[in-house]
Amino acid sequence: MHNLTQQSYIAGDWISPSGANFRAQDPVSLEVLAEHKNCQQSEVNLAAQAAKQAFDNYRQTSILDRAALLETIAEEIEALGEQLITVCNQETGLGLPRLTGELGRTTGQIRAFAAIVKDSTWTQASIDTADPARQPLAKPDLRKILKPIGPVAVFGASNFPFAFGTLGGDTISALASGNPVIVKGHPSHPATNELFASVMEKAIAKSGTPKGTFSLLQGNAISLSTELVEHPLIEAVGFTGSLRAGRAIMDVAAKRTKPIPVFAEMGSVNPVFITESAMTQSGSSIAQNLANSVCLGTGQFCTSPGIVVIPKNSDFVNSVAQVMTNNARNVMLNEGIGKAFVQGVETFIENSGVTWINKNDNLLDTPIQPPNIVLNTSAETFLNNSELQHEVFGPATLIVECDNEQQFIAIAHALDGNLTASIHTTEQDDQIVKALLLQLEQKVGRIIFNGFPTGVEVCGSQNHGGPYPAASVAASTSVGIDAIYRFVRFVSYQDTPSHLLPAELQDSNPLNIMRRVNGQFNANPIK
Ligand code: NAP
Repeated sequence: MHNLTQQSYIAGDWISPSGANFRAQDPVSLEVLAEHKNCQQSEVNLAAQAAKQAFDNYRQTSILDRAALLETIAEEIEALGEQLITVCNQETGLGLPRLTGELGRTTGQIRAFAAIVKDSTWTQASIDTADPARQPLAKPDLRKILKPIGPVAVFGASNFPFAFGTLGGDTISALASGNPVIVKGHPSHPATNELFASVMEKAIAKSGTPKGTFSLLQGNAISLSTELVEHPLIEAVGFTGSLRAGRAIMDVAAKRTKPIPVFAEMGSVNPVFITESAMTQSGSSIAQNLANSVCLGTGQFCTSPGIVVIPKNSDFVNSVAQVMTNNARNVMLNEGIGKAFVQGVETFIENSGVTWINKNDNLLDTPIQPPNIVLNTSAETFLNNSELQHEVFGPATLIVECDNEQQFIAIAHALDGNLTASIHTTEQDDQIVKALLLQLEQKVGRIIFNGFPTGVEVCGSQNHGGPYPAASVAASTSVGIDAIYRFVRFVSYQDTPSHLLPAELQDSNPLNIMRRVNGQFNANPIK
C-alpha cells in the first residue's frame, strides 16, 4: 500500500513541482479525483543530471544484479495488490477484468526481460580472431557487442496504463539493456504513475541500484514533453501514443543540435481483408467477431480493426452494424479522447462517399460514451481519399466494398504503414491471397490469418511495430523481448587484451553464452 501524495519522483526523492495544476478525472462519473502539479524545466534538468550520473554505474552492474532489479520490480508491482487495479480503474474506467489481465501481461513481460538479461546472448557477442599471417595485410582481432546508449525518456499511452505505462515495455526494455529512464507520466492516470514510481523506489532500494536510474515527471503541458526530449543528456526516446504527438516528438528530437533516435509506436487502422470464399463460408460469424473486436475496450486499442475490405455485400455490412448497435456503449478513457473520436467520425462523414450505417444517435451529445459506429464506402471513394486512412481512435470501423479483385489489391497497395493486417480466406482464394501478401508484407508489422488483430501475444516471435506512420522505426518492435534492441548500439573492440574486454567477449567465455566466433555460433571458449 502506498499513500498517494500527488508528487513526482526524481532520483529517490518525492517532490512537489511548482508548475500549473492539472486534474485527474474519473471518466465514468466525471468526478475530479485529484489535483496534480506539472513538472518544469528545473525538474527535467534534475532528473536528467541524476540519470546521466547513474548511467556510469548502472551500465556496469552485473547481469545478475540487473535481472534481480527487474524481478524485484515485478514482485513489488504484485505487492501493491488491489490498490493498483482500483486506483487505475478509477482513473481509466477500463474495468477490473481488463486491468487484471493487462497487469499479468505486464509482470510477465518484466520477468521475460529478467530472463534474457541473465542469459546475455541477446548482446549479440561476435568475435573474429586475428590472423597475423594474412596477406597482403594482417587481420586484426575484432570483437563486437551491444552496449546501452544512456538516459531514455519514456512516454506512455493512456489506453494501456500498465503494459505501455510507467513500467511498461519501453521502460523495462531500456532498464534491461542498462539505461536509466525518465518517464513523462501520462496525465490521464497520474495516481497509477505514482504507484509505479513507489514500486521503483522500493525495487531500487532493495537491489542497490543507483537512485538516478529512474525518475517520474508528472504533467500535462506540452512544454514538459518538449523540454525533456530537448534535454542534451537524453540519448533516446520511447514513445507510445497518437501519430500527432509522436510526430511532434520526432520533430523535436530531429531538430536538436545532436539529434537522438525516437522509437515511437503510434496509431494504426489495421486493415482486415475478407475474400469471397471466406464471406460465403463464414460471413456471419466473421461479422459477429469483427464487431466484437472493434468494440473491445471501447475501440481504444492501437490494434483495433479500423478498415475492413470486402467484396460488395450489403448483408455483411448490415450484420456488422446490427451487432455493433446491440453491443453496449462504453466510456472513453477521457474527455479529450472522446472529443477526438467524435471529430474523427465527423470528418469521415463529411465525405459524401461515406455513409454512417447504424446512425440513430446524436454523436455530439455523448463524446465520453459514444455509440459503436459502422461506416461504409466504396473502393473508389477510399482510393481517392487518403484521409480515410486516418486512425479514428474509438469504437468505429469503415467497411470498404470492392467490385472486383483488382480493387482489393489496389487498396493493399495504397495503404499507409500499419501495425497489422488480417486476411480471412479459404484455400479457394489462395491466388488472390498470395498477391495480397506481397503487398501487405511491405505495409505492416504482423499479418493475421482468419483472426483479428486485437490481443497481442507477448513472446519472442511477436512483432509490434510497422512502417511509418505506425511507428517511427519500422525495424523495431515495442512488444516482446526484441524490444531490447532499441536502446543499444554496437561497440567493436580491436586487438583489445582479453581481460579488458566485456565478459561476453573474453576468450574464456565466463558467462557461457552463445557467440558468433569466426562466423560459427557456439558457446566454446577461445583457445
Ligand atoms: P497521446 O495523446 O499521443 O499521448 C501520449 C503522450 O504524448 C502523453 O504523455 C502526452 O502527454 C504526450 N503528448 C501529447 N501531445 C503531445 C505533443 N504535441 N507534444 C509532445 N507530447 C505530447 O496518446 P493517447 O491518447 O494517450 O493514446 C492513444 C493513442 O496511442 C492512439 O492513437 C493509439 O493507437 C496509440 N497507441 C499505440 C500503441 C502502439 O503500440 N502502437 C499502443 C497503445 C496506444 P499530454 O497529454 O500531457 O500532452
